[in-house]
Amino acid sequence: ASGAKSAKEFLHEKAFVNGEWISAKSGATYEVTNPSNQAVLGVVPDMNDQDTKAAIEIAYKTFQTWKNTTAKERSNILRRWFELTLKHKEELAKLITAEMGKPMADSTGEVGFGAQFIEWYSEEARRIYGDVISSSNPKRRLLVLKQPIGVACMITPWNFPNAMITRKACAAIAAGCTVVIKPAEDTPYSALALCELAAEAGLPPGVLNVVTSSRNNAPKVGQTMCESPLVTKISFTGSTATGKILLRQSADTVKKTSMELGGNAPYIVFDSADLDVAVKGTIGSKFRCSGQTCVCANRILVHEKIYDEYLKKLAETMKAELKVGDGFESDVNQGPLINSKAVEKVQSIVDDAVAKGARVVMGGTKGDKGGNFYNPTLLADVTTNMRCGKEEIFGPVAPIFKFKTEDEAVAIANATTSGLAGYFYSKDISQIWRVAERLEYGMVGVNEGVISCVEAPFGGVKESGLGIEGSKYGINEYIELKYVCMGGI
Ligand code: ADP
Repeated sequence: ASGAKSAKEFLHEKAFVNGEWISAKSGATYEVTNPSNQAVLGVVPDMNDQDTKAAIEIAYKTFQTWKNTTAKERSNILRRWFELTLKHKEELAKLITAEMGKPMADSTGEVGFGAQFIEWYSEEARRIYGDVISSSNPKRRLLVLKQPIGVACMITPWNFPNAMITRKACAAIAAGCTVVIKPAEDTPYSALALCELAAEAGLPPGVLNVVTSSRNNAPKVGQTMCESPLVTKISFTGSTATGKILLRQSADTVKKTSMELGGNAPYIVFDSADLDVAVKGTIGSKFRCSGQTCVCANRILVHEKIYDEYLKKLAETMKAELKVGDGFESDVNQGPLINSKAVEKVQSIVDDAVAKGARVVMGGTKGDKGGNFYNPTLLADVTTNMRCGKEEIFGPVAPIFKFKTEDEAVAIANATTSGLAGYFYSKDISQIWRVAERLEYGMVGVNEGVISCVEAPFGGVKESGLGIEGSKYGINEYIELKYVCMGGI
């Protein structure tokens, strides 16, 4: 009630285990930098397998009591945590912009989005129902109990440093699980700030633990989580390559896993589409977070009849609306990419396209501000043999493909091992049904380019992942069904 804390107060340079701010056993630390200007924000412990093992033991011990709390108790704590998060929205948003680079408006949006998962799971905690099944044997009664799965370990990415923590951890905590999180090395402070507020909300020590580590130690931390017999659940969001490593490492202990992996979203504009709506949607879907989300439009397929007009309108809108700069500047909506490696990757994807005949309508170069900025880029005459037709770009590059028929568009859209989000624009109701059913994607936006929300299931098919986050389904990832047969009645 004494007013907002400053963002500096929320910057914790320690890991959070058993309700305490701790260092690595080795004393090692690493630096966290602002991707906009490379300024050092601070340090955090560089934890390894031993530190991770210790955190898992705490979570396992805490689970023995936390699992016996009532849903109402867990719900109340989550509710208080939600309210504290809203109270400190501004400071949490500043942390995101500082460590990850996205513009303040987006960071504030993310804190609101992240908070919605805390609120949602404070509500869902109370709606975990078992079943009574009628038996064909009159002397028996069949019951299904729903119980928390146990210790859940989570490895999260840097592009949503706040919301990826709450979307996973709150589902687990609501179900009665305890949690150990390794946040992305680039963005530990958002995770640690959430721990402070969770503790203030009354979450008991040991329920939520955060182990920080540099990229060097990340494989050791991950392996310890995957191989520990005390851990019963792994939840990961990140690249498909890393997800496959974690799946392999989880095999020997037969862990339940949730994997939110890479996407390669098609964004199809049919000739009946409202072009202004489709262009506006492209800006949201492609350029949010400078193209660094796994549901960003990756391959934009436009019907040949409207191709030139769409291209012209998109170029005009990009020029008018996209402003690159430091995320703390007020009118900026395109921050830096996360690091120099990301900039190099985006440049090499653009260079490959150009070498194979793509036309640069706009951008195609690094920003002139230095650092990790990349200019919003529009590529025309793109074909499926180019890298941008196959790989997840993860940057502000819009490659435009031309197609003639619905069959051709759907075939191109589905010709990938990914299956996270897909989008299309059409006013033809039969086509809307057909294409929504034919797209091999876990999430489909129809005349909408940004579709994630707390109430709806988030998850991919094919190599984009396993399991669901958010929505009423998300809590099932942290619950085991137990069948109880009562005989002799
Ligand atoms: P990105 O390329 O976006 O960094 P990653 O999948 O590499 O995607 O990273 C997502 C998360 O996975 C981060 O927290 C990172 O530290 C972690 N990570 C990366 N490699 C491994 C690994 N071999 N084992 C466990 N975690 C890893």
